[in-house]
Amino acid sequence: MDGYAPQVPKLNGTEWAAARRRAIASLDAVCAICHTPIDLDAPKNTPFAVEVDHIVPRSRGGSLYALENLQLTHHRCNRKKGAKMAEDYVGQQVINPVPLSNPW
Ligand SMILES: [Zn+2]
Repeated sequence: MDGYAPQVPKLNGTEWAAARRRAIASLDAVCAICHTPIDLDAPKNTPFAVEVDHIVPRSRGGSLYALENLQLTHHRCNRKKGAKMAEDYVGQQVINPVPLSNPW
């Protein structure tokens, strides 16, 4: 590692559980990625289960537990996004409708 790899801060289990609960209780149950409603009763880890996501990823210095940096998504939508941003999508921009900066 030569400094290019971002340090991703680890989530504290207890604090994250609290932040997660707070986000689910206070935010609209609408997926931030596909903008359709989320069924908060969907079983965990199923495609349409609720997932609490960081708006600014942890790897980009986003706040870990602040409500302002949290959004709700579907499990399946969030898995497509992950902490990945532009550079991780280079080479697979076929499915991404948002234009990303080209490396060439
Ligand atoms: Zn979704």
